Amino acid sequence: MIYIPKRVLFEEKSLDYPIGKNLYKIFNNKDTEIHILKSNRVTQIPGDSPLNQYVEGKNSLVIRVRKNQEFQSCKPSAHYQLPLLSGCAGKCEYCYLNTRFGNKPYTTIYVNVDDILQKVKSYIEERKPELTLFEAAATSDPIPFEQYTGSLRKAIEFIGNEEMAKLRLVTKFSQIDSLLGIKHNGRTTIRFSINSKKIIDEYEHGTSSLKDRIDASKRILDDGYNIGFIIGPIIIYENWKNNYLTMLNELRDRLGQEIDSKISFEVISHRFTTAAKNKILEIFPNTTLPMTEEGRKYKYGQFGYGKYVYEKDSLEDMKLFFKDNIKTLFPKGEIEYII
Ligand code: SF4
Repeated sequence: MIYIPKRVLFEEKSLDYPIGKNLYKIFNNKDTEIHILKSNRVTQIPGDSPLNQYVEGKNSLVIRVRKNQEFQSCKPSAHYQLPLLSGCAGKCEYCYLNTRFGNKPYTTIYVNVDDILQKVKSYIEERKPELTLFEAAATSDPIPFEQYTGSLRKAIEFIGNEEMAKLRLVTKFSQIDSLLGIKHNGRTTIRFSINSKKIIDEYEHGTSSLKDRIDASKRILDDGYNIGFIIGPIIIYENWKNNYLTMLNELRDRLGQEIDSKISFEVISHRFTTAAKNKILEIFPNTTLPMTEEGRKYKYGQFGYGKYVYEKDSLEDMKLFFKDNIKTLFPKGEIEYII
């Protein structure tokens, strides 16, 4: 799945940087609208209905220079978010970003990667002798844009040279070619988010297929990276166990049974907040995502807002299913958590 934007909006000073110049060169053609932003505000994205605004937002790239702000923290999984970009090309119905980017969820790409990496360096120095962990996909999936920017590759090589730092990211995309054969020095972990074929087909629009994600993970593994899988959101439906077992078998068959490296698994059951449900219904009024409160348990969250999670018995059943099957199929795999 190659991402091709319909419009690209450049902050004027972004054109002074090599990535900005290159993006202009790539997209300045008859099929793409180009805008030069005169102010910070983005007003050029159309849309007369929630779905239309959402789609037009997803079709838009905004190219900016990142100001020298502090990085956001990324607890508990990492110390800092690595802000190379924010936004995503995918259109997953359940996406956690749906309530985050307003009605027109465009992707912002930052062109001053050297400045951002200098900031990375200063955090690493500050925390020495402690290790510093950066997350490159906290508010984005960087992979579909990498072919246009090369900034993730640069960051991976930068961290590869830093003994006291590590980088991680997660993706639902398979265009990882430019990350192969580079000097990552085993300091980056790439996790692939996977799900049963039915859930991918029904809800993860605009992302790579399960097969392509698995193939990409194998190539990343063979290239010496650390890899992991986020399985989720797990949705309970008729035949869910069969479907998820097929997915795990496909993964095992492709990766090979005798995998030497440690592979991590994070398993996440489906949950929703009232705000997310309302937003999803606005964009996808006919969604079949299971979001009725009956059959769910309300769980108060860490940040003050509650979530609807599966009832205890269903969750226990799910935990047992994944624990047993991952253990059997991936004896060297490490389950980080099942929630
Ligand atoms: S790929 Fe990830 S970030 Fe992108 S829309 Fe899907 S869930 Fe959201």
